[in-house]
Amino acid sequence: MPHPSAVRVRFAPSPTGYLHVGGLRTALYNALFAKKHGGIFVLRIEDTDRSRFVPGAVESLVESLKKTGLMPDEGVGMDEKGNIVQTGGFGPYIQSERLSLYKKHAEELVMNGRAYYCFCSSERLAILREEQVKNKQAPKYDKRCLSLSSTEREERRQRGETSVIRLDVPLDRGAIVFDDAIRGEVSIHARDVDDQVLMKSDGFPTYHLANVIDDRLMGITHVIRGEEWLPSTPKHILLYEAFGWEMPVFAHIPLLLNSDKSKLSKRQGDVAVEDYLAKGYLPEALVNFVALLGWNPGRGSTKEIFSFDELTHAFDLEGVHKTGAVFDQGKLDWMNGEYIKALPIDMLYERALEGGFLNKNLISNAPAHIREEEYLRRVLAIEQERLTKLADIGEENPFFFIEPVCQKDMLPWKKSTIAGAMEALEQAILILEGISQENWTREHIGEALLAAAGDKRGDFLWPIRVALTGAEKSPPPQDIAWVIGKDAAKKRIRLALSILNM
Ligand code: GLU
Repeated sequence: MPHPSAVRVRFAPSPTGYLHVGGLRTALYNALFAKKHGGIFVLRIEDTDRSRFVPGAVESLVESLKKTGLMPDEGVGMDEKGNIVQTGGFGPYIQSERLSLYKKHAEELVMNGRAYYCFCSSERLAILREEQVKNKQAPKYDKRCLSLSSTEREERRQRGETSVIRLDVPLDRGAIVFDDAIRGEVSIHARDVDDQVLMKSDGFPTYHLANVIDDRLMGITHVIRGEEWLPSTPKHILLYEAFGWEMPVFAHIPLLLNSDKSKLSKRQGDVAVEDYLAKGYLPEALVNFVALLGWNPGRGSTKEIFSFDELTHAFDLEGVHKTGAVFDQGKLDWMNGEYIKALPIDMLYERALEGGFLNKNLISNAPAHIREEEYLRRVLAIEQERLTKLADIGEENPFFFIEPVCQKDMLPWKKSTIAGAMEALEQAILILEGISQENWTREHIGEALLAAAGDKRGDFLWPIRVALTGAEKSPPPQDIAWVIGKDAAKKRIRLALSILNM
């Protein structure tokens, strides 16, 4: 089949149960590349390793892609009811549904002398490997079964002996050289390539065989994938050659690293996209953040906040780095905070509600009027500036949801006296009293309090703030008073007065 002229790229995850942030980045780079070139982004599920089968994994993977706005143009998707569906003319796009295809192609390679049946037991292979390691050689199959006569081979197969099909790597092939769109020229000698198993004894193909056949049959023009697959590429090139197929362009994107430069792993924090979303990282912030892990727009640009359209416009493979990209949690927090700040308050409320961030115990145990939309919107308006993630809503400011208990000795400001604090609180009650309901805004309340404070801001405002929050640190008193309302504010201040009186 000739390559279609339009760009066709794919994200080809093995369904491990969740979408790794590295997988999100691979999917994103592919989707951006397709969009930029007016091409097609295919999602293919590579589930031929049955030992790693996880029920429900495809659903959760597609769900994560959907939430992050990276649904494919073709391949595996989801209908309105949440069922997994496959669409497009080159499917099925789930490899376990394509087994006969792989078998047919593997047998074709055997017939053409490019692959062979191997009957070696796992015990023999283990001994071989051990010897090679002892002799400081790279472990490799020794091609023993390549010399079996066709009669012997057929007899053993007829007898039902288990076998695999291996690629016959031509040792006289010399260097396998290819031009990686990110890394430039890559060269690996054929003698360093193992006779890769293509078909396993369970009748399933290995990743290598299925991947190459599918990339070819699905008309993939650019293979954009993680650097961990770079060592596999020479095997894939040999397979393209064995089939007589034209090769796609390869582009290997850099590894994701922890701050200590080790490979990003579960042990050092979350790696699943779902975990980040569950904590209230906004999908668009996460996408923006992973886009910059190993790519930047170049030309001296320091721009960091990109909408999806801006990314589509700016992205190109030339801007992808060769070296590993450190996953900087602090930067993600900052970026998420920027996205939260930029949300209109209605949207912030919707997002918080939909994500279940307004259901936490702190909020659901509060009295009914506090759980009302109006009240929660006011809380969000105050917290928006400082939130790094939606799960933090209310965490720093519990006094929005529960009556604070304030300590007597915390109420007076520094060198001020109890009498001074009482005076401020009494005056505050009068000031709040005098603000009409339509003037009950942060600005008005703030102005009135500041005017009364004059040049004694600390002496005056501190006791009011502590009376309203019971805390040493909090937003300014006008913000708290505005959120909790006039009556509640006066009540809290009266309570503080009675504590000072004790
Ligand atoms: N199935 C491989 C994975 O899990 C795909 C690698 C590739 O894109 O070729 O990442």
